Amino acid sequence: MRQNVCILGATGSIGDSTLKVLAQHTAQYTVFAVTGYHRIDKLVEICLTYRPKVVVVPQEKKQEIWQKLQHHNLVDIEILSDEEGLVYIASHADVDIVMAAIVGAAGLLPTLAAVKAGKRVLLANKEALVMSGDIMMQEAEKNNALLLPVDSEHNAIFQCLPHDYNTKNTEISLSQGISQILLTASGGPFLNSSASDLEHVTPAQACKHPNWSMGQKISVDSATLMNKGLELIEACHLFNICESKVTVVVHPQSIIHSMVQYVDGSTLAQMGNPDMCTPIAHALAWPKRIHTSVPALDLFANHHLDFQPPDHQRFPALQLAREAIQAGGIMPTVLNASNEIAVDAFLNGKIKFTDIPKLIDFVLNKIDNVAANSLDIILGHDTLARHTANTYIQSKGQ
Ligand code: NDP
Ligand code: MG
Repeated sequence: MRQNVCILGATGSIGDSTLKVLAQHTAQYTVFAVTGYHRIDKLVEICLTYRPKVVVVPQEKKQEIWQKLQHHNLVDIEILSDEEGLVYIASHADVDIVMAAIVGAAGLLPTLAAVKAGKRVLLANKEALVMSGDIMMQEAEKNNALLLPVDSEHNAIFQCLPHDYNTKNTEISLSQGISQILLTASGGPFLNSSASDLEHVTPAQACKHPNWSMGQKISVDSATLMNKGLELIEACHLFNICESKVTVVVHPQSIIHSMVQYVDGSTLAQMGNPDMCTPIAHALAWPKRIHTSVPALDLFANHHLDFQPPDHQRFPALQLAREAIQAGGIMPTVLNASNEIAVDAFLNGKIKFTDIPKLIDFVLNKIDNVAANSLDIILGHDTLARHTANTYIQSKGQ
């Protein structure tokens, strides 16, 4: 039986890798629905190759894509728009698997819809989980959704955990002998830059990651180490583990994708060439294994594996994230929203690279913590944090 896949964020970097894996396994998987936002021509190309049943774009792009699909005689593809369209395809009865790969908070409602509909959800969109951690995990349990990590570190941790690891039982990590999770970080493009060099970093430099080819937002997050901060929060929710048991280890080669340590002295690591096709294929087929085009690791190819602790002085964002998850409640949502605004402002030349953590710190201190126990509260505080961040940027710009 072929399984129907819905790709939220098909035009992005994770979308590319997902389609690449699916193209190798057309006997098992069909592309049922795809979505895009700005890159309409790319979405049309995807439609030409994969012939999905439904495509979702913003309302203002509907006419453009309709004309382009007509031009290619792709008249049978249904065109839907906006959040309503995203939620519709993510929860569609014919869909078996949802790849959640929209960047940022825009992915929250469709990802949650897929979870509520009990789908196999391949989670790349970490921001959605950071914003709504408890609700997302509770809904997954309630609706028997299979929430599988695509983020390479979390996928690695998942592979290194005991096969019967139960995220629903809070004490399970103790009873299964897990002592800590080692979350690896490449350190980003500025690992060896001085504090004064960081003052003059340009968006182009920040988006040039040494090991991974990714979208702009996550590339900047990797450069500030906020990506590791978001991943720390993601790990706490996905594996129901306390932040104090998650240690960040800078490993510049990105060969080990993360590790789990056990009380008997064992450290299990998952290794491989840095290519997102591996975690995507793993999450797609789990518990089976399927082929990808990623070459096997050649350990004789002069690989050095280096490890060092993160430098919190030059990269304060990671510590801000740790404090946000320690505080709990709405603080991770506020952290995420202010980071999205800060990254956008940096990419648009409105603030400096080093202003990103300063802005996030300001917003975290400005907003009172409350319990994040409803979607309304989460979305309300997401808006409030964005507004607070924008006001700060405007005041500094004058
Ligand atoms: P990209 O920027 O390459 O792609 C983002 C996707 O989201 C695109 O399809 C984009 O459409 C779409 N999109 C952007 N804004 C909106 C919006 N407001 N509404 C609906 N769709 C929107 O990002 P990546 O693929 O790199 O990352 C996607 C997610 O996966 C992120 O959450 C990231 O943190 C996570 N991730 C990525 C990894 C990677 O290696 N790239 C690794 C681990 C996690 P369009 O392009 O048409 O504008
Ligand atoms: Mg990652």
